[in-house]
Amino acid sequence: MEAVTTRRDYDVIVIGSGIGGLVTATQLAAKGAKVLVLERYIIPGGSAGYFQREGYKFDVGASMIFGFGEKGTTNLLTKALAAVGMNLETIPDPVQIHYHLPEGVELKVHYQYEKFLQELINLFPQEAKGIRRFYDECQKVFNYLNSMDLLSLEEPRYLMRTFLQHPLSCLGLAQYLPQNTGDIAQRYIKDPILLKFIDLECYCWSVMPASHTPMINAGMVFSDRHYGGVRYPKGGVGNIAQKLVTGLNNYGGEIKYKARVTKIILEAGKAVGVKLATGEEYRAKRIVSNATRWDTFDKLLAPENLPPKEQKWRNRYQKSPSFLSLHLGVREDIIPPDTECHHILLEDWNKMEISAGTIFVSIPTILDPSLAPPGHHIIHTFTPSNIAEWKNLSPKEYQEKKELAAENLINRLEAIFSGLTSALDYQEVGTPRTHRRFLGREDGTYGPIPRRKLAGLLRMPFNCTEIPGLYCVGDSTFPGQGLNAVAFSGMSCGHRIATDLKL
Ligand SMILES: Cc1cc2nc3c(=O)[nH]c(=O)nc-3n(C[C@H](O)[C@H](O)[C@H](O)COP(=O)(O)OP(=O)(O)OC[C@H]3O[C@@H](n4cnc5c(N)ncnc54)[C@H](O)[C@@H]3O)c2cc1C
Repeated sequence: MEAVTTRRDYDVIVIGSGIGGLVTATQLAAKGAKVLVLERYIIPGGSAGYFQREGYKFDVGASMIFGFGEKGTTNLLTKALAAVGMNLETIPDPVQIHYHLPEGVELKVHYQYEKFLQELINLFPQEAKGIRRFYDECQKVFNYLNSMDLLSLEEPRYLMRTFLQHPLSCLGLAQYLPQNTGDIAQRYIKDPILLKFIDLECYCWSVMPASHTPMINAGMVFSDRHYGGVRYPKGGVGNIAQKLVTGLNNYGGEIKYKARVTKIILEAGKAVGVKLATGEEYRAKRIVSNATRWDTFDKLLAPENLPPKEQKWRNRYQKSPSFLSLHLGVREDIIPPDTECHHILLEDWNKMEISAGTIFVSIPTILDPSLAPPGHHIIHTFTPSNIAEWKNLSPKEYQEKKELAAENLINRLEAIFSGLTSALDYQEVGTPRTHRRFLGREDGTYGPIPRRKLAGLLRMPFNCTEIPGLYCVGDSTFPGQGLNAVAFSGMSCGHRIATDLKL
């Protein structure tokens, strides 16, 4: 198709309005750049988006949110909103996760560090010392991170400045960068079940056991939950993206929806613009892709443009599975009033990593009842699922498989919420195919995971790519998945581009 229009006057085009893309866009707009965000879907947010059905407002994915603290430097969502004059009311969650573990063991990760440690020590009294030493070491990593501004590690002047201001933190972090959580846990802890619990603690956000989870990420998650805490945005997770878009517009940035980019335009090997499915073309000095690396390099660029470093990265990282998501509206009487918002259910330690092994549950209406009709709660539950299990099915087989998968999940959840089956008011199932379709993520993947044990975060790519003018942002860049993590990626990407454009 011929180009319909060609606009050349943008400084930066961002492909995709996930939190990574929006943080990049707002950081740059706040510095005076002329920014255009192109989003294929009808609303912003990507995996942090929402949808509404019959009076319920469901979060697409994320609902356990870090990064909304009031102090320190790691509260990146607070900082990203503030950069464009925005803020968001959030509701503190006193318990990060209520674990329902094999053999009926129950454990809550309380906001208060000591209360959590005591609960864990009561379960493993012989490991009291090891538990404290392991989690204290995570706190050490977090304190290093939380002492410095988190910006682009690809910007030498920032690195130099930060090193001069915080030499001990920088040296401390450099020591942890190549390390994985499992190695540190095993230094202090011997009990095999407790080590499996540490695996689950990692798995619930990294989808990898501790041996494959970088210590920097664990230090952040295991400590920020007792510092800034887990908080739920009032009105739903979708409000984060909505507020960022308002801030973007207030600073002169633009966003277009139903704008699917099909090609990144290269001239003399440099990224100079994008082409949409409609044939429209837009040009800018810098192009940022918030699509996954697989979608960026396999779909928006020709195969001969795959840079050698990308191929190397693919030899080290692979796509994680996607999720089977079940969005339920239920009568409120089956949820006791003292129920926590987030739960993890695992009946057999050996099944943690298999498809449909670990079940994640969020009940956001515990914190914000306005998301459901009066007298009702939302239960969002999801479990890892591979797209291969959902391929080559007739529409009837697909429907039946969805219904069976939902029934299995509901039956297992009866162990926590007795009477759930009879209290259902609304039910919707999302499969890996749904995630692929609505989020534009290849195979509906949650993001990259190491193919084998790697040296911590050392091999995770930053924002610059080998194609001049093209940057990547979001969960397939350093430091990985999660809203606060992609906000970090967005801050870094904005910082790097602002330096390149001398803003
Ligand atoms: C089920 C589930 C539960 C989760 N739970 C949590 C949680 O509790 N806490 C937490 O912190 N994180 C959670 N996460 C992870 C978190 O949601 C993601 O890591 C994060 O939202 C990814 O953000 P992103 O900016 O990298 O990309 P995405 O959110 O994937 O956004 C990318 C955007 O780009 C758009 N796009 C893609 N291709 C194109 C194109 N060609 N043209 C135009 N637009 C395009 C997409 O439509 C999308 O809007 C969860 C994720 C899932 C799926």
